Amino acid sequence: MHDKDVKFLEDAFKKYYFDHFDLIHTPKNPEMREFGYQKFNSGMTRHISLKSDKELHLLLMKNIPSDVYCSNARYSFPNLPMAEKDWQNADLIFDIDAKDLQLPCRQNHTIKKCTSCGNIGNSESCTQCNATKFDTVSVLCNDCIAGAKKELNKLITILTNDLGIPRQNITVYFSGNEGFHVHVTSAYETLDSRHRAELVDYLTFRGAIPETFGARTNFAKSVFPDLDDKGWLGRVSKAVFGAKSNKAKISKQIISEGYFPFKKKIESLQKELGAQIDPNVTIDVHRIFRLGGTINSKSGLTKTLCTDIAKFNPGMDACFIDESEVSVLADCPVSFRLRNKKFGPYHKERTSVPKYAAVYMICKGCASVS
Ligand SMILES: [Zn+2]
Ligand SMILES: [Zn+2]
Repeated sequence: MHDKDVKFLEDAFKKYYFDHFDLIHTPKNPEMREFGYQKFNSGMTRHISLKSDKELHLLLMKNIPSDVYCSNARYSFPNLPMAEKDWQNADLIFDIDAKDLQLPCRQNHTIKKCTSCGNIGNSESCTQCNATKFDTVSVLCNDCIAGAKKELNKLITILTNDLGIPRQNITVYFSGNEGFHVHVTSAYETLDSRHRAELVDYLTFRGAIPETFGARTNFAKSVFPDLDDKGWLGRVSKAVFGAKSNKAKISKQIISEGYFPFKKKIESLQKELGAQIDPNVTIDVHRIFRLGGTINSKSGLTKTLCTDIAKFNPGMDACFIDESEVSVLADCPVSFRLRNKKFGPYHKERTSVPKYAAVYMICKGCASVS
């Protein structure tokens, strides 16, 4: 990133951090957490210990980070190297990213950027240098956010209904880019990585076998679960039979088709019924994770607490940069909406936009201050 763009973003981020300290808090037990941050065009600084919101605010004003992170784990000595930290426990963390859902709308709001020369285009090879490798950057999309919310609701339902986690222990944040982060405090915080992996299998409905759902060695004698059974039994039953009145007829049909078609049927329900979460995030108990209230430098939007998931609109509710006019050179071939205003497409053109839109495009790598 060019120096003048870094300077522009740092000024905008500093103003945000100064004006919105009220949105940025250390999590519970800050003294046991590891903090880390990144600056633009530079690596990660980790193994920082902070004792209070005040110390965090000082760090923000002094360093003006592009991104700020905090461990979900609690340690006896958070500022020591990993092997000496003395891990105690870790909140459960879930990451739902619209990118992973691979919805068909994706291609309409994704930009291809040549890895060699940075040229933005849509052809097979770069029109400027003929290279064939591209980075992709995507902008906010209502359908993708709706898709991510659907996964979020599935996850919350399973956590509350099956695992008995009270809803008030589940905190949902918009990630600041294209997804949601879920932080859970519960009796599960002492689980190690291996057990978290089992939990992920349960939540994502991976590795389910027909025997769990009533298949017997003599398949004709199989007894399938009822629609109002608890957990996966009931969910699978609802998906397979639709209504109680269909159960007898459809059961007969399943039995006549045999074991393997039933196995296939159950496997095919994984995507529809399982919560699409990033397994690596949940399994990693040493990760530092974006801190709520801080800006995501992939977008300039804030990782924002979502109290009403249905109503939450990231372009409105996570966009906190001010709206003073800024002149930019924009090369953003897809349009996007922020604060209910549509921007773009822009084709290598000079334009004047509110600062929040300038920050968004510069963070996405498709504009430069001019
Ligand atoms: Zn190129
Ligand atoms: Zn989309």
